[in-house]
Amino acid sequence: MLTLRGKGVSGGVAIGRARLLHREKMKIKQYAVSDIEAEWRRYEAALTKTVSELERLYEWSREEIGHENAQIFSVHAMMAQDEDFNDAVRTIIVGQGNNAEYAVSMAAQQFSSAFAEMDDAYMRERATDVGDIAQRILQNLTAGRQGEATDKSDTPTGEGDIICAENLTPSETVQLDRHSVSAFVTAQGSANSHTAILSRTMDLPAVVGVGDGLGAIEDGVIIAVDADNGEVYVDPDAPTLRALRLRIEQNAHARTILQKYRGRESRTLDGHRIEICANIGGIEDMEEVIRNDADGVGLFRSEFLYLGRTDFPSEEEQFEAYRRVLERIPGKRVVVRTLDIGADKKATYFGLAPEENPALGMRAIRISLTRPDVFLTQARALLRASCYGTLAVMFPFVTSTEEVRRLMSLWERAKADLRERGEAYADRVEIGIMIETPAAAIISDRLAPLVDFFSIGSNDLTQYTLALDRQNAALDEFCDSHHEAVLRLIRHTVQSARRAGIWVGICGELGADLALTEEFLRMGIDELSVTPTSVLPLRERVCTLRVERQESMVDDYTKTGGEL
Ligand code: PEP
Ligand code: MG
Repeated sequence: MLTLRGKGVSGGVAIGRARLLHREKMKIKQYAVSDIEAEWRRYEAALTKTVSELERLYEWSREEIGHENAQIFSVHAMMAQDEDFNDAVRTIIVGQGNNAEYAVSMAAQQFSSAFAEMDDAYMRERATDVGDIAQRILQNLTAGRQGEATDKSDTPTGEGDIICAENLTPSETVQLDRHSVSAFVTAQGSANSHTAILSRTMDLPAVVGVGDGLGAIEDGVIIAVDADNGEVYVDPDAPTLRALRLRIEQNAHARTILQKYRGRESRTLDGHRIEICANIGGIEDMEEVIRNDADGVGLFRSEFLYLGRTDFPSEEEQFEAYRRVLERIPGKRVVVRTLDIGADKKATYFGLAPEENPALGMRAIRISLTRPDVFLTQARALLRASCYGTLAVMFPFVTSTEEVRRLMSLWERAKADLRERGEAYADRVEIGIMIETPAAAIISDRLAPLVDFFSIGSNDLTQYTLALDRQNAALDEFCDSHHEAVLRLIRHTVQSARRAGIWVGICGELGADLALTEEFLRMGIDELSVTPTSVLPLRERVCTLRVERQESMVDDYTKTGGEL
C-alpha cells in the first residue's frame, strides 16, 4: 500500500479502480510486432469498444443534456470509424509492422495537424476531436492489455471508477459520467478552482495536488480516496479498506440524520428566516437539489451549456435547458447567471485571443457586451423559458453602473425581438447582478437602485480583493477566506442592498462556511446558495442559532466611523 497526500477539495470517501486520463500526453512507445494480424485485431477490438462506448455515451447524455449537446459523442463515433483514419492506422500496423498504440498516435497527429492547418474555423476545431478520439482508443488498447481491468463489471469493490489525471479542466469535470465515476485525484489543482467547486456540486470526493505521486498509480489498480483528510491509498491493505468502508457507512448515516431538516424552514431560534438555495451547473444537478430540499436554485452557472462542445448552443437548445430546470421545481425561484466564459472556463469556438492575465481579461459580461449576438441569443432563450416557472437572471463580473445599463438595454432588445416574433415571456423576471469584484462591492450603493437583487460571488470577490489567483494551488496557504477586507465588502454590500430595499444573497463557497453563518445572518443576508449537499447541514446550523446576542466579527471597523 502506498499513501499519497494532497488537498481534499470535496469531502467523502470512495473506493474503486483507478482510471488514468490524458494518456495522450504520455509518451507512446514504438516497437515492432511479430504477429501483425493479431496486432491489427487488437486495434479493431479497441476501436469497436470505443465506438460502442461513444454510442452509449450519446444515448445517456441525450437524456441528461439534450440531443444538441450530446451530438458530439455521435460525431466522435463517426469520426472514429472514418475510412481514411483507419487506413492510416492500418498502414502503420500492417504495412510497417508497428504496435497499435504507436499507429494510433501517429495517425492522430497526422490528422489533427491537417485539421489544424485548415482555413475554416469549424474544421480547425476538429483537430481537438481527433485528439479526444485517439485518447479513447489508446485507453481501450491499454485496458485490453490488462484484461479489461477498467471494465466496471470487473470491479470487486462494487464502486465506480476513480479518475486520476494530471489536472482536470471544468469542462472535463462536468462531462465525467457520474453513474460510473465515484471520485477523482489530480496531481495539480487548487481548492477554489471551478473544478473543485464542480466536484462539490457533483458530490464527488476529490483530492487535488498529490503531485508526482500520481505517477505511482497504474490504470486499473484499486485505490481508496479519503477526501476528508486529503489522502489517497494506492492498493490499500485490508485494515485500511475496513476502516474506510466504515467511514462510508458513517457518512451515509450522517446524511440520513439530516433528512429531518427536509421540508423545514431555515429559521433561527430567535426568528430570523433565510432562504437556502442550491448552485447548479445544469439539469443533471437537479436531482440533488430536490433530494436536499433546497429552497430554490440560487446560481445556475449557465456557461456549462457552452463548454465541452464545438459550437455555440442555439437559442432553442438553451431554452430547453432553462425550461427543464424551471419545471423541476415549480413555485421555487431559479437564478440563472448569464454566461461567465473566460478565465479558466474556455470554449475555443469563442475565438478569444490568448491573454497574459485571463482572470483580468475578456470574461463574462465583457464578452456579452462585445458580442451582443451571443448575449441576445441567451437572453431570448431565458425570456422564453420564463413562462415555465419563477425565473431570475443575474449578470456576472460587473464593475460599473454603465455596464449594468448597457446589459439592461440589451435585455430590453431581446424582449422586443420576442414581441416581434409573437413569442411570450413572463411579465416579471427579476434582474440582479453578482457582486464579485471589489469595484462592485464599493459602489454597491450606486448599483442597488438599478437592480432587483444582489448575489455576492465570494470566490471571485476574495480572489480580486486579496490579489490571489484562485487557480494557483501554491497560493492556497495565503488565502484567508475570513479576511476582514472581504467581510467588510460583504457587509457594505448587504447594507447597500437593505437601504435600497432589494434582497441580497451569497452564492460563492463562503455561503456554506458554517463558521460564518451567524455573521451573515447578523449582517442581514436574505439568501445563501450552496452546493446541493451543503443545504441540509446549513439549515441545521441556522435552525440551532440565536443571532441577536452574538458579537460581530467585523463590528470593530464601524467604530472608526467609516462605512467600509
Ligand atoms: C463566485 O465568484 O463566487 C461565483 C459564485 O462564481 P464562480 O465561482 O463561478 O466564478
Ligand atoms: Mg465568479
